[in-house]
Amino acid sequence: MEVLSVQSELLDQAQGESFAAIPGGAHRDLLEGEYWRFIPGFRSVGEAEFHTHQFQQKATVTSVAQLRETLGNLPGEAFYEDLAAGVRNAPMAIRISPHLLSLIDWSDPARDPIRTQFLPLRSHQQPDHPMLRLDSLAERKDSPVPGLTHRYPDKALFLPVDTCPVYCRFCTRSYAVGADTEVVGEKLKLHASQTRWEEAFRYIESMPGLEDIVVSGGDSYNLKADHLEAIGRRLLEIPHVRRIRFATKGLCVMPQKVLSDARWTDALTRVVEEARRLHKTAVVHTHFNSPGEIVDVTRRAMNLLVERGITVRCQTVLQMGVNSDASVMQLLVRRLGYVNIQPYYVYFHDMVPGVEDLRTSLAEGLEVEKRVRGTTAGFHTPAFVVDTMGGGGKRDAHSYEYYDRSSGVSVFTSPSVKPGEWFFYFDPLSTLEPEIRQRWEVESERRGMLAEAVGRAGGDARSARESLASWS
Ligand SMILES: *Cc1c(COP(=O)(O)O)cnc(C)c1O
Ligand code: SF4
Repeated sequence: MEVLSVQSELLDQAQGESFAAIPGGAHRDLLEGEYWRFIPGFRSVGEAEFHTHQFQQKATVTSVAQLRETLGNLPGEAFYEDLAAGVRNAPMAIRISPHLLSLIDWSDPARDPIRTQFLPLRSHQQPDHPMLRLDSLAERKDSPVPGLTHRYPDKALFLPVDTCPVYCRFCTRSYAVGADTEVVGEKLKLHASQTRWEEAFRYIESMPGLEDIVVSGGDSYNLKADHLEAIGRRLLEIPHVRRIRFATKGLCVMPQKVLSDARWTDALTRVVEEARRLHKTAVVHTHFNSPGEIVDVTRRAMNLLVERGITVRCQTVLQMGVNSDASVMQLLVRRLGYVNIQPYYVYFHDMVPGVEDLRTSLAEGLEVEKRVRGTTAGFHTPAFVVDTMGGGGKRDAHSYEYYDRSSGVSVFTSPSVKPGEWFFYFDPLSTLEPEIRQRWEVESERRGMLAEAVGRAGGDARSARESLASWS
């Protein structure tokens, strides 16, 4: 008896310690109150006004000059200079909501995870990896109609608009999304146009294998209520379409809209109800990257969606300094679960221009994955995926065929999407030894490293040559 109780006490203690390693109740600790009042430009804005989509849209900051007007000398002059130089060197124009601006720690903006995602600093930018491509996932190659990517057998990605309520520095679709910038001059234009949409719907109709449509963008938040409803109903009417998802970063950027824009939220609700009536599903996919983005007003917006029976899942991007620390990712995952958002994916950072400082190596991300799995319910544990270079699609990060930690090359196959081809991911050069970095600068050395990796992965010379042809 005595021994048993001592043992169980020891066990309790040990468990107490290991459970303490998981942030105890921190995930339930959501920021409340008037968190915007310390921003000079929002000092006189009351709660009733701040928590409306009209205010959030009207006061959205889209230039360095406007940021300066809003923040005054909250950050120092050096910050504004660094930012202005960063913007000139970035693929995405800036656009950030008052809600997100107010959640930045302005006493240390250089290290703040929200600042990191939306406001580029020149001093943090690194040269792009030599293997980088503007449309790194080769989405345009798999587009039968402009704004529709059909890469997987039963699902397609539909881009009805090319604008978002915010512009993320790291957007994979910087080839299309947002205003033209000095770095990406003429972007592919995907304006809201019913004629273009109808072309996409007809294509979907002509493909009986398509069961799952992602309505993305851009962002579904930027669809007018009646457009959102019309798109939803038109897709649900197609007999073979069984599932639709509306992708929006809105819940992170301005949760206020769900609460105050009744026309939009009601339109979404009607589509979800129509889907249910037809025994199909319509859900929302959203995008949070750091735990500080989820506050009390987010929970209130989610509560409304929960009451309406709307499923929300989250796709997170793994980013250095934002969520690359396992304890931060654990907190994010548990906080998402707490507000009833299901963590679905964590993407390794795509290789897009101007964001090399945000990428992690495959090894670093896999380490985070190992620590996240096991902290909460399996159905709230995101899959860590790599959207491979060249159009192989998303692969479980653990499923690489070969990974050379020293050259940073990982090789994947995608037997159900592009059988017989080889696909790649490349660790950031900053994680490699100096002599390897130099090899990456030389064209023939690059080809050599790729060919060697494919060979080690088990590729024969011919298929390796074919896969590599597009990488010269
Ligand atoms: C991500 C993506 C989808 C959806 O993929 P899931 O793994 O089902 O989330 C569909 N089409 C394209 C082109 C995509 O990139
Ligand atoms: S919300 Fe999505 S599509 Fe829009 S800029 Fe951000 S990552 Fe790109």
